[in-house]
Amino acid sequence: MVGGGIVGAACARQLEREGFHCVIVERDVMGSGATAAGMGHVVVMDDSEAQFALTRRSRDLWDAMELPDEVEFERCGTLWVAADEEELEAVRGKLAYYRERGVEAELLDARRLYEAERGLRAGMAGGFLVPGDSVIYAPCAAAWLGRGIERKKAEVLTLGDGWVELRGGERLEGDIVLCATGAWAAKLTPGLEVKPRKGHLAITDRYPGAIRHQLIELGYLKSAHGDSTESVAFNVQPRRTGQLLIGSSRQYGVEDGGVERHILERMLRRAVEYLPGLAAMQLIRVWAGFRAATPDKLPIIGLARNCSRTWLATGHEGLGITTCLGTAELLADLVMGRGTALRAADYAPGRFA
Ligand SMILES: Cc1cc2nc3c(=O)[nH]c(=O)nc-3n(C[C@H](O)[C@H](O)[C@H](O)COP(=O)(O)OP(=O)(O)OC[C@H]3O[C@@H](n4cnc5c(N)ncnc54)[C@H](O)[C@@H]3O)c2cc1C
Repeated sequence: MVGGGIVGAACARQLEREGFHCVIVERDVMGSGATAAGMGHVVVMDDSEAQFALTRRSRDLWDAMELPDEVEFERCGTLWVAADEEELEAVRGKLAYYRERGVEAELLDARRLYEAERGLRAGMAGGFLVPGDSVIYAPCAAAWLGRGIERKKAEVLTLGDGWVELRGGERLEGDIVLCATGAWAAKLTPGLEVKPRKGHLAITDRYPGAIRHQLIELGYLKSAHGDSTESVAFNVQPRRTGQLLIGSSRQYGVEDGGVERHILERMLRRAVEYLPGLAAMQLIRVWAGFRAATPDKLPIIGLARNCSRTWLATGHEGLGITTCLGTAELLADLVMGRGTALRAADYAPGRFA
């Protein structure tokens, strides 16, 4: 397994259950890539049927797990905030879509929105509540998923069919090889349709009870699904520690992983527009990381091109914490040659050809 992020860890765990002995080859600390940078929101999203199916199945799998305390699982729900009547009206279709597919959701008018979250700026029109969504602490979740699995600290330089070559020349072989290197996947598989998409986050000191739900503006959907080179959206998460995790930004075409002041300022200003109380809170840390973006916003899961033993699990963009479990289940079904609960073709590596 190349890559020790949450996707590699989840896939290794699933394949060990199928009887494989896995070795995770990670060049850095386990879970130090996008997994450490992410927000840990486990969320059902409806950009496409395939995205809905994968996020929903994955959320069910998270719900079914007995997670240890350090994973900080909290079913806080997602509250999508409608800033005006137009946004509220548009969300009615979303409500019907979720309900028809058996996912609990509610439309809140302005009165109920403020009952749910008193700190929101006055004048919002309402909200769309998905009570079954949750948050986890992704680095600990990845460590927990990968516990007991053999690890090797090394960088893979070449990916072959059933083998890898490490920096220093050592060659490892396996019945199968899985490449789960996130935003760096195209480096080992040239031509793969995965591009890094940078994101910033900031976390406050402890303010217990300041908010109760993961709060997101409905405009986030435009930011997440659009292709603009730079965008920000209001997205704030309550942590079990009482801290508030503030996002989010999206940038294409940036290679430097450092914090950029101009985008951080835009992101924080947006957050304060929705939640004015944030302006008086103390930020204690800011950081940035890279999502692995694909053209259709769906991950790439399946056999690599011209290979019979090397598999790919990458391209999870802003949803890999959520979707790692559904990914691992699908991958294991494919490897074992079983039928799949999800439509494998929707995530197949060859779909862009
Ligand atoms: C700002 C931000 C917010 C996010 N918020 C959320 C959220 O709220 N909910 C959600 O579901 N998702 C979220 N995500 C997305 C989520 O974090 C990712 O989709 C997920 O972590 C991807 O996991 P991964 O294992 O594929 O990649 P990574 O965690 O990046 O792991 C890939 C690993 O591969 C290793 N690697 C790379 N190349 C090599 C090599 N050649 N040899 C050896 N090792 C190598 C890297 O060191 C890295 O550890 C967010 C992401 C960002 C950046």
